[in-house]
Amino acid sequence: MEEIGVLKGLVAREVDGLESSIWETSSAIHANPELGMKEYESSKLLCSELEKFGFDVKLGVGGLPTSFMATFDTGVEGPHICYLAEYDALPELGHACGHNIIGSTAVFSGVALSKIGGKLRGRITVLGTPDEEGSGGKIPLIKAGYFRDVDAAIMNHPMNFTAPWMPTVALGELTVKFTGKGAHYSTPHRGTNALDGVLLTLNCLNTLRHGFRNDVIFGYTVDRGGINPSVIPDVATARIAVKSTDVSNLRLVLATVHRCVKGIGSTVRAKVEVTDAPVYEESIPNLTLIEAVSNNFSQLGISFKSPDLMSRSMIYISTDYGNVSHVVPSVSPVVAISSAAVGLHTPEFARAAIDKKNRRTVANITKVMAMTGIDVLMNDRLLENAKKEFNRYAAAGFKDTPLSPVY
Ligand SMILES: [Zn+2]
Ligand SMILES: [Zn+2]
Repeated sequence: MEEIGVLKGLVAREVDGLESSIWETSSAIHANPELGMKEYESSKLLCSELEKFGFDVKLGVGGLPTSFMATFDTGVEGPHICYLAEYDALPELGHACGHNIIGSTAVFSGVALSKIGGKLRGRITVLGTPDEEGSGGKIPLIKAGYFRDVDAAIMNHPMNFTAPWMPTVALGELTVKFTGKGAHYSTPHRGTNALDGVLLTLNCLNTLRHGFRNDVIFGYTVDRGGINPSVIPDVATARIAVKSTDVSNLRLVLATVHRCVKGIGSTVRAKVEVTDAPVYEESIPNLTLIEAVSNNFSQLGISFKSPDLMSRSMIYISTDYGNVSHVVPSVSPVVAISSAAVGLHTPEFARAAIDKKNRRTVANITKVMAMTGIDVLMNDRLLENAKKEFNRYAAAGFKDTPLSPVY
């Protein structure tokens, strides 16, 4: 075990040496915010850094042009860890979710480990996962098998507090389209009002709301509802986003929306189409890896919120990292780059993501991720426990995992 402590000291020193590269890379991504699936320059920059340090890099994997996979093999048989990089920005707001930091810290956690690779075993992958804010690039990468031989996945997210894990909830979004027939509004019986289909669907959901489990929330927009009140709308569309603390309950609600739309379509005699966006699953905690991250925070003298204070009822954000946590043991600490009053997706948070005051913090979270990587690569018992824990949850369909709310 002492050996592991020594290795952690060595990798932390490597991160110190890389501090300006970490900050410059993060700053360069911040300065050129690119939207999801269009992160051409950001992905190229991250890949070029990895190449510089001897990683075997493939840009554009799993059918996604701005994804990448970069691997460093120590040459000694051992576990395979995967750092998850994000680097997409938000329309108008730029890097108001701090993904510039996620991308850079993931890459340099891997690089720091590779620099002491001769003392390690196993493989280190940095996986570039585009479009977290949109379609969820991790989902096709999971489907394409990029996590099949991964033993543990590690990432971080900048936040307004520091904690070894953060609960996130399941999210589904669907687009509903009613197609009817246009007519003059003086002769509505000659047409089929598509907007009625949308209005009834939304009213139906609002009425059913009181019967949903109390963690269910939803929002909607009417994106197309006709062109003029004197014309019966022939096409009407709406988008509906639904959240629930777990994906099994979310799917029940989404099925209800489908039934509503179908029933209403036949009632108003309109054709209906429902398009489901990929579902973001809730984050599954891995207590073994959370403990490892907590110990590494403590070792660096970083104070953090205890995991059991992270109630799902307080934090209602969603991420495609949740889907990764359903396929491999994983951990995603959060790190404070702003005061508690500043929320994600605000201009203030975008400024915090480039604020020089956070340079040390960004280096520190890189250390925590690299040190946790050493735990996974070098501590057999820890990895075995993390896997046992994960397998237990998976066998139970991820129901009643720890730190979950009880309904
Ligand atoms: Zn975000
Ligand atoms: Zn984010």
